Amino acid sequence: MIYTLHDRPLLSESELEEALMPFPVAPYDTCSFCLDLSGGRECAFVTENDRTAALVDERQYERGAILIIPRHHRETILDIKDSELEAVYALAKRMAMAAEHAYGAVGANIYQNNGLKASQHEPHFHVHVVPRYEDSESEKLFLQRDYEVIPIEEQRQIASILRAAL
Ligand SMILES: [Zn+2]
Repeated sequence: MIYTLHDRPLLSESELEEALMPFPVAPYDTCSFCLDLSGGRECAFVTENDRTAALVDERQYERGAILIIPRHHRETILDIKDSELEAVYALAKRMAMAAEHAYGAVGANIYQNNGLKASQHEPHFHVHVVPRYEDSESEKLFLQRDYEVIPIEEQRQIASILRAAL
């Protein structure tokens, strides 16, 4: 048992997990991102490792928009392990650098939403990396409903351009 300066026991990681109520997400039977990871759905991976993967966002909010996901199914920030979070954000950084090299991005929005009330559409933790350009509207907010899904061939082309810049 670990004690603080005030001699109060700290909660262990598993006790902390039990103490938290999950953020509610939309009900689901199958998870699209788990399907992507298992090869059950077509997607365009840029790169992946044992903990995390980067795939081209089927909605291109800006050229080169990417999603970073943990390999394990975690619903929200409340469920993901710190070590996975570290791996996900390390990859987000690499993808921002790749967008700078490949496309000449001059900035990037890196963000994620937790729970239905925070506009999380897929129930599997994911970080958006949205490159921004000289001609980007800097204060623009991205709404999923404003963007069409692009064809898989186009997603694969973006993946190979970014992969070459890693
Ligand atoms: Zn999942």
